[in-house]
Amino acid sequence: TQTSVNLTHATSEQLLEATRAVIAGGGSSNMRNMGVTDPLVLDRSAGCRLWDVEGNELIDVNMGYGPHLFGYADPDVLGVVAQQLRLGAITGITHRLDHQAAELIAATVPSIEQVRFANSGTEAITSALRLARFLTGRAHVVTFEGHYHGWSETVLRKSAITDNGSDPTGAVPGAPGMIPGALDFTYQLPWNDAAALDALFAAHGTEIAAVILEPICGNAGMVHPLPGFVEKIADLTARHGALLVFDEVITGFRVGLNGAQGVLGVQPDLTIVSKVLGGGFPVAAFGGSRELMAPLARNEAFHAGVFSGNHAAMSAVVAMLTKLTGDPSVYGTLDVLSSYAEQRLADVFAEAGRPVRITRAGSVLSVALLTRPQETESDYDAAVPLIDFAAHRRLQILCQRAGLYFHPNPLEPWFLSTAHTPDVLDSVVATVKDSLARL
Ligand code: PMP
Repeated sequence: TQTSVNLTHATSEQLLEATRAVIAGGGSSNMRNMGVTDPLVLDRSAGCRLWDVEGNELIDVNMGYGPHLFGYADPDVLGVVAQQLRLGAITGITHRLDHQAAELIAATVPSIEQVRFANSGTEAITSALRLARFLTGRAHVVTFEGHYHGWSETVLRKSAITDNGSDPTGAVPGAPGMIPGALDFTYQLPWNDAAALDALFAAHGTEIAAVILEPICGNAGMVHPLPGFVEKIADLTARHGALLVFDEVITGFRVGLNGAQGVLGVQPDLTIVSKVLGGGFPVAAFGGSRELMAPLARNEAFHAGVFSGNHAAMSAVVAMLTKLTGDPSVYGTLDVLSSYAEQRLADVFAEAGRPVRITRAGSVLSVALLTRPQETESDYDAAVPLIDFAAHRRLQILCQRAGLYFHPNPLEPWFLSTAHTPDVLDSVVATVKDSLARL
């Protein structure tokens, strides 16, 4: 069975060592190189599975940080993109696919009439915030503790997600080398703290260009907004002439066809989508009403990119959104699968007597071992300090050796897909159970 396998990784080890000589840290993202103990160098992926260079097969629940709603190498997306690649991957000229891709976004994301495409969440967010500053003539942006908006200069803070638990509050600039004062125009508030929000707007309401948030937070565990909290942000931004910006990089096309804004029934001014949007290809978009996007339409606000809206990415967007709009019942299916996984996992952690925090929004699950059980209300609010990062990493290594991959950082969610069928999930749960027994 899955749980009795003990993977070898001598070839991965050698190859990773060789890669480290020519790629700083061995992978092109700090998140990727963080907390890696057992090397894993891949050969290929399909469905919910990975194969490493030794031929070991693993079940993956991190799934490339979330784009693959239908699993890796979904033939419906791959077929369309492969055909487009032969017709031209990128020319830097508007293509008929651009219109189709943008119309599909406008038809599904309630707050979007017009978009611009970019290549990553970070890029789209940077452009959206610049647009917000242009539109309001103000400089300050408000962010929330535990929310991640990419690695650009004005939003990156050291946090549990960027630093593997070393600073749960996110009070410090994200990285040495940032411009001194990069965060002087960024306020950071605790999530779900209405009083702090009121106080900030009362004192500084006229300076605030935008409030940016993950409407359902996915980078500090899945932390849902308290009832009325997002509505309150919408009300305060509207009354003070600031813009409401939803970072739906995780939630867009993931928690439902209309994203978190569809689930919550709150319309932001600007929205950023990525991940599921491209079905595994690098693409992001930001957008809002035609009125708000007008400075870009007039070439007054600046946004560019050689690869922005390239034809390969646009074909992936068209394939993915055509598939999703054609059968939105996939969200119900994923919810049933994910709820099953959530319950079974909760059971095995309870049986093992291991305190855990499992939170979920649709098919995004957060599973984190704790140092002690959550007991009080504030334990639930400020759960990051309770996370046992070291024990979680030990569990991650045991699971990886037994053929189950999730991220070493407990704050990186599990992204389930239609490839995670009940028997796959049973195998996942069995591996976790077995690894907990040996922890
Ligand atoms: N926003 C959120 C909510 C994210 O989860 C991420 C990445 N995980 C980003 C922005 C940054 O996106 P990218 O890594 O594509 O720049």
